[in-house]
Amino acid sequence: MSLISHPDQAWQDELLALDREHVWHPYGPVPAASAPYPVVSADGVRLRLADGRELVDAMASWWCAIHGYRNGTIDAALARQLGRVAHVMFGGLTHEPAVRLAARLTDLAPGDLARVFFADSGSVAVEVAIKMCLQARPGRRRLLTIRGGYHGDTFGAMAVCDPVDGMHSLFDGALAEHVFAPRPPRQLDPAYAAHMAELFARHSGELAGVIAEPVVQGAGGMWFYDPAVVRLLRKLCDEHGLLLVLDEIATGFGRTGELFACEHARVAPDIICVGKALTGGYLTLAATLCTPAVAHAISNGAGGALMHGPTYMANPLACTAALASLDLLAEGRWREDVRRIERGLAAGLSPARQLPGVADVRVLGAIGVVELVGPVDVPAATEAAVVRGVWLRPFRNLIYTMPPYVARNEDIEMISSAIVAAATAGGGA
Ligand code: PMP
Repeated sequence: MSLISHPDQAWQDELLALDREHVWHPYGPVPAASAPYPVVSADGVRLRLADGRELVDAMASWWCAIHGYRNGTIDAALARQLGRVAHVMFGGLTHEPAVRLAARLTDLAPGDLARVFFADSGSVAVEVAIKMCLQARPGRRRLLTIRGGYHGDTFGAMAVCDPVDGMHSLFDGALAEHVFAPRPPRQLDPAYAAHMAELFARHSGELAGVIAEPVVQGAGGMWFYDPAVVRLLRKLCDEHGLLLVLDEIATGFGRTGELFACEHARVAPDIICVGKALTGGYLTLAATLCTPAVAHAISNGAGGALMHGPTYMANPLACTAALASLDLLAEGRWREDVRRIERGLAAGLSPARQLPGVADVRVLGAIGVVELVGPVDVPAATEAAVVRGVWLRPFRNLIYTMPPYVARNEDIEMISSAIVAAATAGGGA
C-alpha cells in the first residue's frame, strides 16, 4: 500500500482506522482510548497535521528536537552521509562519524569521560551504565538511586525508576531490587544529608554505584532539586568507593541552561548517559561515557570485555546527525536562547499560580512546569492547547513544556498561554 501524498478526509480516516487496528502507542492500550493526531510534516517549531492545522511543538518531540524540524545543517549533513553509507555493523568495523562523535563528546563532557559506548536508545545507554558498574565492581550487585527518578523502560533501567511511578508492582519478582533514597529536596538540609550518609554506610558493601538524573528529574515528575545534592552524591560515592552515574539523557545539551546539568553542581561523574537531543531529534542514538579507570576495570576484569553490542550501534546516519547538532550548539546561540525561553516561560506561566488546583509553577532553563494538585484531565488539557495551536503532552499531575531552543518569543507566549488554558480546562480531573 502506498503513502498518499495529498491527505484528504478519506486518507485520514483510513490511516486512523489502520492505526487503531494495528498500532501500539506509548503507554497505551490497544485499541487506543483516543485517536492520535496524524502529522504529515514539520518545519521549525511547527508540526503540520493532516487536516492542515499547525501546532507549535511545546514538547520538542519528547525533548529531542532542540533545533526544530527540517534544520538545514542537519538535513544537509544527512544527505551527504546517505551518499556514503546509511548503516554498517560496528563489530570489527569503524567509521568517521562514530569516531569523530566519540572524540567530540569526550571533549564536551565534564571531567575525564574518555571512553564512549554508543547505544541505540536512552534506555539501552542506562542498561550499559548499569552493566559498567556491575562489571567494574565485581561482587557488588545493587545500585542506589533516588525516588522520583526515571531512567527508561527496559528491565534494568526500570528497576532504578521510581518504584511507585515506574509501576514496579506490575513486574513484581522480575525486577532487580535496588536501594532507594528519598526524593531530593529543593534545598539540601542537614536531615537529608544525614539520612543519605546513613544509607550509604548501611549498604556500601553491596553497592556498585549510584544513578541519578542531576538537578532535574524528568519523566519521574519534572522535579528540580538542589545541585548540592549532586555534590553530596559525589562525596558519598568517593568515600565509599562507588561509581557515580549521571543520567543526562533529558538534561544534556543545554536544556537546563548549562551544557550538562551536572555543571550546576560542578561535579563530574564516573559514567554519564546522553541521548534524546544528541541527534537534535533526528534519529535514535544515545551514548554511555566512562572514565579510563572504569574502562580499565572492565577490560581487565572477568570476561575482559564490556558485554554489550547492539545491532545498530553507532549508526552512521545517527552519528552524522549528532555531529551536525553539536556543530549548531558550538555556535553558542543556544545559551542565550535557553535564557530567553526561561524568562519567557517564567513570565508566561506565572498567571497559572492563581488558578484553583495548581500546586506549583516552576521554570528552569528551557523547562516550564505547572504541577496540579490532582491528575490532569489529559484529553481536555490537550484539546485546550490544540485549539490554541500548541502541542502539549501532559502526564499524571503535570502540564509542562520543553520547547525547541529555536522557539521565538511569540512561540513561547503561545505555549505559555496554552499551558495556562490547559491547566484551566484539565485541572478538574
Ligand atoms: N533517562 C532519562 C532521564 C529519560 O528522560 C529517558 C526518556 N524519557 C530515558 C532515560 C530513556 O530514554 P529512551 O526513551 O530513549 O529509551
